[in-house]
Amino acid sequence: MNPQLTLGNHAVVIGGSIAGLMAARILSDHFAQVTILERDPVDATPQARKGQPQVRHLHALLAGGLDVMKAYFPGFEQTLEAAGAQIGDGEYLRWYGYGGYRMAGATGVPGVFASRPLIEWCVRQRVLALPNVTLRDEIGVEALQMTADNRRVTGVQIVHRREEKRREALSAELVVDASGRGSSMPKWLTELGYAAPEESTIKAGIGYATRLYARQPGNGPVTGYYITPDAPDGLRGGGAFPIEGDRWIVTLAGYLGDHAPTDDAGFLAYAATLPTSDIYDLIRTAEPLTEVMVHKYPSSLRRHYETLKRFPERLLVLGDAMCSFNPIFGQGMTVASKEAAALDALLRERRSLDGLWKPFFKAAATIVAVAWELTAGEDFRYPAAEGKRPAGLALLNAYVGKMHRATHHDMEVYRAFLRVAHLQAPPTTLMHPKIMWRVLRAPGRSTPTNLATASNKPSAAREAA
Ligand SMILES: Cc1cc2nc3c(=O)[nH]c(=O)nc-3n(C[C@H](O)[C@H](O)[C@H](O)COP(=O)(O)OP(=O)(O)OC[C@H]3O[C@@H](n4cnc5c(N)ncnc54)[C@H](O)[C@@H]3O)c2cc1C
Repeated sequence: MNPQLTLGNHAVVIGGSIAGLMAARILSDHFAQVTILERDPVDATPQARKGQPQVRHLHALLAGGLDVMKAYFPGFEQTLEAAGAQIGDGEYLRWYGYGGYRMAGATGVPGVFASRPLIEWCVRQRVLALPNVTLRDEIGVEALQMTADNRRVTGVQIVHRREEKRREALSAELVVDASGRGSSMPKWLTELGYAAPEESTIKAGIGYATRLYARQPGNGPVTGYYITPDAPDGLRGGGAFPIEGDRWIVTLAGYLGDHAPTDDAGFLAYAATLPTSDIYDLIRTAEPLTEVMVHKYPSSLRRHYETLKRFPERLLVLGDAMCSFNPIFGQGMTVASKEAAALDALLRERRSLDGLWKPFFKAAATIVAVAWELTAGEDFRYPAAEGKRPAGLALLNAYVGKMHRATHHDMEVYRAFLRVAHLQAPPTTLMHPKIMWRVLRAPGRSTPTNLATASNKPSAAREAA
């Protein structure tokens, strides 16, 4: 740490998952000491903890998130690969959506295939290698410590879970809440006499069912499969990604309560009903390594901290604690990383913690809005999805649908879409005249000709199911 940059002696981060770790990495450049407080026990190896039940399910790290991690952890790709992750060009994803397969071929947009616990473990190794960052596990934060007038946060009240619930106050000049979707911040704010943030929700009743399978060991990149549902009639989709330890992680996901069963036969039969047979063909003969695990995701949830008029000084919120997205585009880790990078930019520019919450929440809201609108567009293809539909949605979705279908046969459109989906480029790039021209002249319906094995038709397996 550069002593010139020190903004304070001690910063505390609540939550030791991706958002908390990325926040700690940023704060390590600005504070003498950074402490991450994590309620769960944290192992020395990759693990799925109780406080983050979603991490057992299919996750991808997008190129936009990888860019941020590479910037803050030089050589991070090597860290990932040494741990067993596969970093490959988008061409290693056979992605079916909007009635066809996306183009095959090099895209220039990388993605990471690995289990979510492995990605977090890699980030954690790099963060905890920093001399001024400490992670204290089995410590829950119960409340904020405040100045007498409740205007400024001075620390947190913690409970030691190992020591018969011993309680203690921990002082800090900045507290960052990265405690995930279940964050207590709205409750703490109202208890302190502040307004809780307004919330937006989109209820799409998504359910994930996931199982790990053995994969034949081999050299070279392995292709993963992703199938997005054919909305509005089709509710089912899924993914099968190669992960470390020669395994497949296979998730079957359904909208609006149409969720996969957890018994062997039911899981397989559900896979057989997806728009293409890629996943069914894979799991039909593969050896299961686990039971089927489920995760219900009734709604996306966005907390609008950016619209608050009053907020305690020296307090910030980021990651899923601010916004939790429909996972269809795999954006959560990337959004959290970009928010952390935005915090870094602000701290370098302002050199002060006073009034920081306002520009931070504004910057974070800009990052969140892009990802939120991308997934909201997908959710609202279903008339039964509940939430506030933006003005002009029908027109926008008509264009977006055409754009998606153009990705079946136009590599330039596919690359432009991938850069947006991976949060590397703003959605406005899809409205560039060069792209619009290619999208609008594309045929209305597409035939997947890019892969010899591609099939839009129900597979024999599906007909039999
Ligand atoms: C089914 C599903 C699939 C997803 N797929 C993807 C994907 O493909 N790609 C992607 O980028 N994102 C995906 N996401 C989102 C991703 O999981 C999160 O964005 C990511 O984990 C970062 O979240 P976080 O760190 O903000 O919170 P979390 O991961 O939820 O972690 C919060 C942490 O805070 C701790 N904690 C909570 N309260 C306290 C407290 N009071 N004191 C101390 N510690 C506390 C918890 O124990 C936990 O460790 C998916 C989400 C779901 C639900």
